[in-house]
Amino acid sequence: MSKKQPNPSDPDIYQLLLEASEKRRRERRAQLLEPLGVKEYFEEGRIRIDKKTCKGVECKICIEVCPTHALYWKAGEVGIVEDLCIFCAACVWSCIVDDCVQVWRKRPDGEVEEFSTPKNVLVLMHKIMGRKRRERVISLARALQLCRLYI
Ligand code: SF4
Ligand code: SF4
Repeated sequence: MSKKQPNPSDPDIYQLLLEASEKRRRERRAQLLEPLGVKEYFEEGRIRIDKKTCKGVECKICIEVCPTHALYWKAGEVGIVEDLCIFCAACVWSCIVDDCVQVWRKRPDGEVEEFSTPKNVLVLMHKIMGRKRRERVISLARALQLCRLYI
């Protein structure tokens, strides 16, 4: 019996299921984050904690600093509720072990950022502050030019 050839106009069921599942995931995240008053800024992201290097019970700092309670203590290790993570990197910034927490995130403009040490976070903060300062200077310069036109 000959195999039925796919018709290019048929809907791609696999793709439709993927899209529906992604939509449900986003809705679930929105419901969880709304009561916390936290804005989701990144398009996507990932977080990983290296259980081999984590100081666990002696530390737990990341659990205390996480603004969304995405981290919790479970059976002797730090657990992650991925649906609550907004990839802010506060846990990387405060972790006492380099490369123990790794955060990967994608900005709405497609720019990808990755951190695993407080130094990485500091470098990014400087970069963002520099960019904002530049935008402020440009908008001030434009406003001054406009003022000159009317003087
Ligand atoms: S990246 Fe931010 S939201 Fe995610 S676990 Fe770390 S501190 Fe919490
Ligand atoms: S701050 Fe780092 S070392 Fe401390 S518990 Fe969290 S992941 Fe582990």
